[in-house]
Amino acid sequence: GMKVGIVGLPNVGKSTVFNSLTKAGAAEAQNYPFTTIDPNLGVAAVPDERLDALARVMESRKVVPATVDFVDIAGLVRGASRGEGLGNQFLGNIRECEAIAHVVRCFEDENVIHVDGKVDPVGDIETINTELLLADLSTTERRLERVGRAAKSGDAKLKAEAAELAGLVEHLSDGNPARTYPRSEVMAEALGTLITAKPTLYVANVDEESVADGNRYSAEVEKLAAREGAEAVRLSARLEAEIAELPEEESREYLEMLGVESTGFEGFIRAAYKLLGLITFFTAGEKESRAWTVREGSTARSAAGRIHSDMERGFIAAEVAHWEGLVDAGSWAKAREAAKARLEGRDYVVSDGDTMIVRFNV
Ligand code: GDP
Repeated sequence: GMKVGIVGLPNVGKSTVFNSLTKAGAAEAQNYPFTTIDPNLGVAAVPDERLDALARVMESRKVVPATVDFVDIAGLVRGASRGEGLGNQFLGNIRECEAIAHVVRCFEDENVIHVDGKVDPVGDIETINTELLLADLSTTERRLERVGRAAKSGDAKLKAEAAELAGLVEHLSDGNPARTYPRSEVMAEALGTLITAKPTLYVANVDEESVADGNRYSAEVEKLAAREGAEAVRLSARLEAEIAELPEEESREYLEMLGVESTGFEGFIRAAYKLLGLITFFTAGEKESRAWTVREGSTARSAAGRIHSDMERGFIAAEVAHWEGLVDAGSWAKAREAAKARLEGRDYVVSDGDTMIVRFNV
């Protein structure tokens, strides 16, 4: 699945975020056949009102949301890039993720020790980012050495890559993430292995009282994210953990008292989903309504392959209706009558919110 790594200094609330995300996700995705393989790997359901609406009109017996996998990457400390703590192992875990959620402490609490003695979100972010940059720098220097040696054969492509790698070493040494280095074809492979090339979402973990309006710490995080061209969301991990223990009615009252509609957790999952360049299409019927995840730009045939490899292999056509058209019509038959459903071929590019019936040869 799509994997998002949760990083941050110790004691900033990573585990609390991870637990509340995946606990809520597990509750929502009761029907989803996943097992927790690893205590640090969890599955979160993507909240989606469109899916709920489809399931209602179809009177679906089962509703299956899209999911995002989260990995709790604990133990990233100052010196990790030099192998301190369990440094190298953790950096390896981050490399396997497609995106990074960087949790930042934006709450004061004298009972929760801060590793550097004070609440300082920008300083914390710099500490973590420095380790990630140093890890990427050493990866890039090693690659430059190897490619530079091979380029002595006179191969033009290798020479071009060596020149670009030297530029990237300089870029990283100046403290810039690989994300902001110009992408070219010769660099695609090199950039694909770098941590700071991954899309990053900053998560400002605030106290209960600051969910509605934020505080001075979360404002600093939002400013930094804007500067870096990264995304930022605000949530309260502890509030989320408390809410998860309450009955529905009480949790709603509690949120109302705090002046918010949700704990911020839904916004977080949606932002992570968007960050990965993913879109959703649906299948909807009496038996089941389900949300499927594909990359933006996917064709109908490859989308069919998400459902079943037989559907991709034997693909004939897809019957497509926008979710809203189908909900308005009330059924596939009525959507056809109202010309709200149409037939599309294998190369049709799927849009976010499409509902599909795949016709295929077995
Ligand atoms: P991690 O080391 O980054 O995984 O941090 P944890 O999730 O274990 O949290 C560290 C401590 O901070 C725990 O005692 C949490 O209960 C507490 N904590 C987490 N979020 C908040 C919050 O928003 N406010 C307060 N006051 N404490 C929090």
